[in-house]
Amino acid sequence: MRALAVFPSTKRVHLLDIPEPQLGGATEVLLRLREVGLCGTDREIASFEYGDPPSGADHLVLGHESLAEVVEVGRKVRNLKPGDLVVAMVRRPCPHAECRACRAGRPDFCETGDYTERGIKGANGFLTDYVIDDQAYLVKVPQVLADVAVLVEPLTVVTKAANQAHAIFHRLPYDPGPQRGLVLGAGPIGLLGAMFLVADGFETLVYSRDTENSKVAELVRSLGAGYVSSTQNPIETLAKHSGTFDVVLEAVGFAPLMMAAAQMLRPNGVLALTGVPPEGATAELTAGHALRDLVLRNKVVFGTVNAGRKDHVSAIQHLEQFMVLFPESVRKLITHRMPLDEVPQMLTQKLGIKNVVEISRAA
Ligand SMILES: [Zn+2]
Ligand SMILES: [Zn+2]
Repeated sequence: MRALAVFPSTKRVHLLDIPEPQLGGATEVLLRLREVGLCGTDREIASFEYGDPPSGADHLVLGHESLAEVVEVGRKVRNLKPGDLVVAMVRRPCPHAECRACRAGRPDFCETGDYTERGIKGANGFLTDYVIDDQAYLVKVPQVLADVAVLVEPLTVVTKAANQAHAIFHRLPYDPGPQRGLVLGAGPIGLLGAMFLVADGFETLVYSRDTENSKVAELVRSLGAGYVSSTQNPIETLAKHSGTFDVVLEAVGFAPLMMAAAQMLRPNGVLALTGVPPEGATAELTAGHALRDLVLRNKVVFGTVNAGRKDHVSAIQHLEQFMVLFPESVRKLITHRMPLDEVPQMLTQKLGIKNVVEISRAA
């Protein structure tokens, strides 16, 4: 069968022919991949800036945003049967007994850093025809979501951030309710974040590089959210122009914007950072002003990565809700579908919003 792999030592990315996996353990599931989404992480791995093959291997099979169909199940598998659609969780637990998060089934909060991630770090991914996975890491998706369910994995970044923001809002002596939300960035995560906030009843604004008459801005407005372009409004004047917000979701990974984002919060507001800036990135900031603002206004800034099962279930529920509220806008997030053999070339460019690899079709 086919697999698309990255060879870090020789700096090559190409299709391989590898043997089909065979079902072994009682809780294992054989999956046929339907679709795999590509993102900035895949581009970074394909340019050899990031990513590790499984230990002892010279290559890493790429792909972490999966949608697959169950082909065969082990004898102890419950709740999954052939024909079901599933999304696989990306991060897997570290082996250490002292890691409280992994032992509690939440490797997305791993304390040791020795977790693996399928298609990213120490474990092969999903850009292949078939994979084996354990039922513990598979989340069932309703058939009605088949054409958009490849968006579940990126949406879990948003739902995990939302679940944490919820926990933080619990500290308040009043019910903050849905009020004003700001999304920084209009890539797939930013746009899914905007959909989430709109669906939750927030007055939502998206701030990004695209101009105000771009397709992206049009898509944002089609949700009922506002759009402000950073080309016309620098972040320093955004609060004056658009007011401040109870929740800010950052999905850009540009360090100066990330550092400035807390200024966009109202008192008691929460900022979730999801972007990953380059290691050496710097930003200018008046520390005294920024720290006084955090303390004197009870603001919370937190970083969030990956997601647990609960966040996956929440993502699936929200995607169903989005498909009722604004189905055409959701479909427009997938701007390009391609066969597996076009991936090496596609990884060197970025077209539209979400690029998806079609591996097999419904039987
Ligand atoms: Zn991704
Ligand atoms: Zn761990």
